[in-house]
Order: sequence, then structure tokens, then C-alpha cells
Amino acid sequence: MFIDGKWTNAHNQETFASYNPANAELLGEVPSGGKDDALAAIDSASKAFPSWSSLTAYQRSKFLIDAHRLMMESQQEIAEIMTQEQGKPIRAAMNEVQYAADFLIWFAEEAKRVYGRTIPSSRSDQRFLVLHQPVGVVGAITPWNYPVSMITRKVAPALAAGCTIVVKPAEATPLCAKAVFQIFEKASFPPGVVNLVTAENPKPIGEMFINDARIRKITFTGSTKIGKMLAEGAGRGLKRISLELGGHAPFIVCADADPVHAAKGLSLVKFLNSGQACISPNRIYVHAQQEKAFLDELKSRVSKLKAGPGLEQDSKIVPLINQQALEKVETQVQDALKKGAELISGGERIRDDSCADGFFYAPTILSRVTPEMLIYREETFGPVAPVIIYQDEDDLLEMANDTHYGLASYVYTQNLKSAMRLFEGLDFGIVGINDINPTSAAAPFGGIKDSGIGREGALEGIYEYLETKLGGFSI
Ligand code: NAP
Repeated sequence: MFIDGKWTNAHNQETFASYNPANAELLGEVPSGGKDDALAAIDSASKAFPSWSSLTAYQRSKFLIDAHRLMMESQQEIAEIMTQEQGKPIRAAMNEVQYAADFLIWFAEEAKRVYGRTIPSSRSDQRFLVLHQPVGVVGAITPWNYPVSMITRKVAPALAAGCTIVVKPAEATPLCAKAVFQIFEKASFPPGVVNLVTAENPKPIGEMFINDARIRKITFTGSTKIGKMLAEGAGRGLKRISLELGGHAPFIVCADADPVHAAKGLSLVKFLNSGQACISPNRIYVHAQQEKAFLDELKSRVSKLKAGPGLEQDSKIVPLINQQALEKVETQVQDALKKGAELISGGERIRDDSCADGFFYAPTILSRVTPEMLIYREETFGPVAPVIIYQDEDDLLEMANDTHYGLASYVYTQNLKSAMRLFEGLDFGIVGINDINPTSAAAPFGGIKDSGIGREGALEGIYEYLETKLGGFSI
């Protein structure tokens, strides 16, 4: 753990192990922090807050610029740790490190653009002045599926705004978090500004974030269930909260879309990280006219996806994170088949050769999926593409919006009118129109409904860590 600028063990000296999901190999041990460690980290972040928040934006920015440079210099090394610990293909891991570093440089720049404003008053002897100030100490909790970028997407705006922070990363990916904090150490942030508490049991850390009055903001990326629990706790202390939660993205192929282009897009976004992404398409609505061309192309592309450990050349289908994740996928696929779905390809665990000891599941296409099936409503987090054939475009919005989630959505159409109607009508925070990667450090990322509250990245990202203060001056 990294507390007050120093690497430390847990108070109780306990540790836990991190394993490679591709072959169950032991990768390392890290401290298993608890309440005392969270307290020490909050103490140190709290002590560091007055001086960090008093630096000029230019001074804070410089640390983030250094961290960006150092992260890019270690891109390959961090990517290799990520591939071994989380599983994604090495090329995707390299991209994620780049994405993670993008937040450092973006918010280094945004730090200097926290403008206030003056407001005219109806009284000639009065002036209004609005300024933004950091909320205080932040408690951050991050998931395993994007284990590096989900840390910088929180740390960079928090530090740019003048906050200090304590991060609790996912139990499955502590070595990725350690690699990120080694970069922060090299960037020489003052002690206490950024703190890392690794933990096998996340509960006491979450409770400390909720119960310690010095934590003024909780930022969380993970499941809707845990997000709601943290929000309830934060509500009791009236703490600010940002939540980036689960999703159930519709992927719409309109009657006028290019079905080959759409199938190509789907094959790229669906099987990214073996489907373990919050923005992964989970309901693929294909117009009946496009069914054959779309499925033929998708099947052909899926048949070429090679499964194997992410460090092996050309591996596209990598292991799921653990046995439980594998079982969830198996259950959803079996349930769909029992209820009448058609299996186009895949549908089973992969156990050959280099996949024998990992949690590999074959890239799977199911067609004729219906609303009665579990997969129609539950986030899958696996390499399964559930296809729904529809007839009438007038029903599309109602079908696509029929979920309690509201994170990402995708539309393929060549008609501007349809594109605009769906963009405006989809109840999702992100809509990709003929675009499978509508994400960037410069663009606001986040969901509505059960997918969360708040936005990360973009100019919105820094305001999650700022309070608004009004000055009324009578002159
Ligand atoms: P999770 O089980 O909710 O875990 C997320 C984080 O919360 C982990 O660090 C976890 O620690 C911690 N946690 C679990 N129980 C807690 C508690 N009682 N108190 C405090 N912290 C607790 O989710 P996950 O399985 O890691 O991540 C997958 C989910 O994240 C999916 O639903 C996915 O859609 C979502 N996600 C959303 C976004 C987005 O931007 N919207 C991005 C990526 C992922 P442990 O690891 O120790 O359990």
C-alpha cells in the first residue's frame, strides 16, 4: 500500500495473492488493508489537503504532466502486468495504458481552466462572484476490468481540482494499482496527496469512506448493487458521490444500415476484453431484412477470433476474470437456449491447449433472443452476442429503453433522420452512431438510471471534485 508517500504493509501484516486468470499462476502478494489502514490513509490525505489545494493550478498540473510522461515511458511494462493480472490482450492493455495516461494530461490541462464568473446584480452597489473550490478528501473505489484507466480517470481530475485522494482498487487487480502508484511515486507528488489501500475485504474500507467525516466525496466504478449501497451510506453523511455502474447496451442495426459494417463493428466492440466491459453490447437488435447478411458476416468474423492468454500473439478471446464470471455466462447461455434461442456459434467453455487452466469461454452468437431470457436483462460480462430480430422500427426506442440501465448504446444507420431520432430518444448517457468507440478523456463518460450518477473525463469530469462558492459583495 502507498500511504503518506511511503510503501507500507497492512497494520495486521496480512496479505493476499493475485493470480493470472489465464493459467492460475500466482503473480504476487500484496498487503490486505483494513480499517486501520484506511484511517491512516485518510489521516494522511487530510493532512496533505491544505497545502495541495493551496498550490496554483499550474503547480498541480506540473505533477500530472510528469505522471503522464512517466506512465507512457512505462507503457509496455504496465501493459504486461495488466495482461497477466486481468487477462486482456497485450495490444488492448497497451491501449488502456495510453487511455489512462490521457486522463493525466487532459486534467493537467483542465486544472488551468477552472473558471469562475461574475454575475450582474439588480443592485448597483452589489457584485456577485462565483468561484470553484476543491471538495476535500476523496475516497475512490475502482474495478478490475479496466484496472489502470479507472484509477487515473478518478485520480487525475481529483488532484487537478486540488483534492487529495485515497484509492481502494479491486481485489483481482492490486498489482496494476501498485504499478500506477509507482508512477505517482516517481512523479513526486507530495506525501499524502495520493494514497493506495489494497484490501482482500473491501467492506471496512467502504465503511471508512462512508463514516469518516473528512471524506467529502466518494467516487466509485463497479456494480450497480455496490454503487447503490455506497450511495445510501454517502447520503447519510451528505457526501458528494459519483457512480459509474453497470450497463446493458443496445446495439441497433437499422433496416437501412450497412449490415457488413455493423457486423464488423459489433465483432470488435462485443469481444473486446472478452465482453468484460460496462459498455459492451448486450442486446443486438437487427432488422429482419438484415438478419442473414449481418449474421453471416458476424459468424465469419467470430470464427477467426483466436482464444489464448493475452500475452500470446493474436489472442483475441482472453480468459474471464474468475470461475464465478464463467458460471454466470454459462447460466445465461443455457437459460437462453432452454427458452428457444438459436446457437449460431460457440456456447461452451474452451479447454484446449493454452486455455486448459484458465477461465476461457468461446465467442458465442445467440439469435432469436427474447425478453423472457435472463441475458435480455442481466449484464453478461462475457463474450456472448445475443441477437434479437425485429420487424418494425417504430418499436425500437421502446425496446431499447426497456432496461433499468442507461450507460452506452449503439446505432447503425445510413439515414440522418433515424440517427437523430435514436440519438435523442435513447435513454443512455452515451450513444455511438455508426461508432463503436465513443470514448475519450476529452468526452463525458457516464450513465443514467441504474448506470450511475455524474460524468468522468471531459470538462465535466473536474466539476465532480469542485464545490461552487458564491460571493456577494456590497460596495
Ligand atoms: P464490484 O463487485 O462492484 O466491485 C467494484 C469495486 O467495489 C471493487 O474494488 C470491489 O472490491 C469494491 N467493493 C465490493 N464490495 C464492496 C463493499 N461492500 N464496500 C466497498 N467496496 C466494495 O464490481 P466489479 O465486478 O469489480 O466490476 C464490474 C462492474 O463494474 C460491472 O457491472 C461493470 O459494468 C462496472 N463497470 C462500470 C464502468 C463504468 O464506467 N460505468 C467501468 C468499468 C466497470 P473487491 O474487488 O475487493 O470486491
